Amino acid sequence: MITLNKINKVFADKHQSFHCLKEIDLTVKQGEFTVIAGPSGSGKSTLLNIIGMLDQPTNGTYQFDNKEVAKFSNNKLADIRREKIGFVFQAYNLMPVLTALENTEMIMEFSGIDKKQRKQRAIETLEAVGLGEFKDRFPAQLSGGQQQRVAVARAIAAKPLLVIADEPTANLDSRATESLLDLMVSLNQKQGITFIFSSHDPRVIERAHRVIHLQDGKVIRDEQLQHISSTHSPAAIPS
Ligand code: ADP
Ligand code: MG
Repeated sequence: MITLNKINKVFADKHQSFHCLKEIDLTVKQGEFTVIAGPSGSGKSTLLNIIGMLDQPTNGTYQFDNKEVAKFSNNKLADIRREKIGFVFQAYNLMPVLTALENTEMIMEFSGIDKKQRKQRAIETLEAVGLGEFKDRFPAQLSGGQQQRVAVARAIAAKPLLVIADEPTANLDSRATESLLDLMVSLNQKQGITFIFSSHDPRVIERAHRVIHLQDGKVIRDEQLQHISSTHSPAAIPS
């Protein structure tokens, strides 16, 4: 699904330059649950931003579904980000003046799905993440763990192939972390959604199929912990 070949990222301005990612080679299969681990500053967010097509590498090639991302037009990139990729960030990024239901519906607004269907799908998705009865609450009326569940519901409502989550459990206590992980593992198994996370939390790492260890912008270890079971077939992805 994802193939990165000798990816480098250099942040440069007039005064200085910083070589953030160095010669990253990485292949991620459909249905994999991968964690990018590494200390703060090792390049995890930068790598996820490139995989999520929010940023471009300085050089190297990135293929998504066997197509070269650098050749996509801006419209095509926007379509892929909206239809194929869901994002979950550390700081939830929920709109404070919208309810859980409205936050979940909002992401589908430009997807071509009609309004009635968007609402139906948002309700079903909130039920699937265990928040059916909280759908009319505002973020401030929800706990951190519940807000992060809304963020997951929003990321999966448009039925993406890939969910990218940047330290999704960083602000959660251990109970909320376990319950969020249970949710994501079950979405991965039942719906075949590919997950790529960044985290340095050992509780997250132990649930992954695979852990890519980054240090100073380089992959220092690529560890296979579990194999994808046969139930994770891409055919399980709802249309
Ligand atoms: P991590 O997520 O592992 O903590 P990041 O990818 O956020 O690491 O950052 C890696 C390094 O790249 C850091 O030293 C950071 O300061 C630098 N960096 C990230 N984004 C930018 C940017 N837009 N401009 C300059 N430097 C950046
Ligand atoms: Mg980061």
